Amino acid sequence: MIVLVTGANRGIGREVCRELAALGHTVLLTARSPEAAETTARELGGDVVPLRLDVTSEEDIAGVAAAVAERYGRLDVLVNNAAITYDTWQSGASADLDVVREAAETNLYGPWRLIQELLPLLRESAHPRIVNVSSEAASLTNMGGGTPAYGTTKVALNALTRMLAAELRGDGVLVNAICPGWVATDMGGPGGRPVSEGAAGVVWAATLPDDGPTGGFFRDGRPLPW
Ligand code: NDP
Repeated sequence: MIVLVTGANRGIGREVCRELAALGHTVLLTARSPEAAETTARELGGDVVPLRLDVTSEEDIAGVAAAVAERYGRLDVLVNNAAITYDTWQSGASADLDVVREAAETNLYGPWRLIQELLPLLRESAHPRIVNVSSEAASLTNMGGGTPAYGTTKVALNALTRMLAAELRGDGVLVNAICPGWVATDMGGPGGRPVSEGAAGVVWAATLPDDGPTGGFFRDGRPLPW
């Protein structure tokens, strides 16, 4: 399989790349810093190809789509992992909307634009999958506030997941939202579970069989409440 992962120079994205490469897949390890992408790809070994991709850059997205089209002519899996602004303990009532807007560029519009640009290549795949890395903070059932920018942009990412899953079901594209759980990364901070455990659920969604679920919200392969 040919798999593209965003925000893959550190944290969960890096580990997803490592695990998929270990399974023998071709991994397009993307990062907004080309140097970081190259260094990380070298560290991981395997069939890992570094590419520059800032998900807020239309130019970068177009460049990656062109590169994948030229080199492979198809894409099997897109993992939208990059995200910013875990604004925990903040007030929605007094949230800085510029911060919310900036978060939406990375957490929502970036994945959305990337899906739009890469969909023609995903349609060339025999087993296309889209994995949107989300968060339990996006669960309306559990939402008690506290992460206004992060929570609302991930809720919107979940809505996008659900909408596209229905739209692309006939084309065989499986689209799911995955919560990795609380993971010890720069975003998660210390105390969370190891990246391998968080990445496992993402890898599970990336490698679903053709009769696997679509339009779901999962952690560790089990459904979460929306
Ligand atoms: P990190 O903060 O450790 O890593 C985030 C990654 O996203 C970095 O590689 C960063 O790149 C990249 N990134 C940020 N902005 C952009 C951009 N504009 N374009 C491309 N890449 C970008 O986060 P995690 O690994 O912890 O999180 C990964 C995913 O898991 C996210 O979607 C997050 O919301 C989700 N998640 C994480 C949880 C946790 O406990 N850690 C819990 C629930 C969900 P750079 O190095 O250049 O900044």
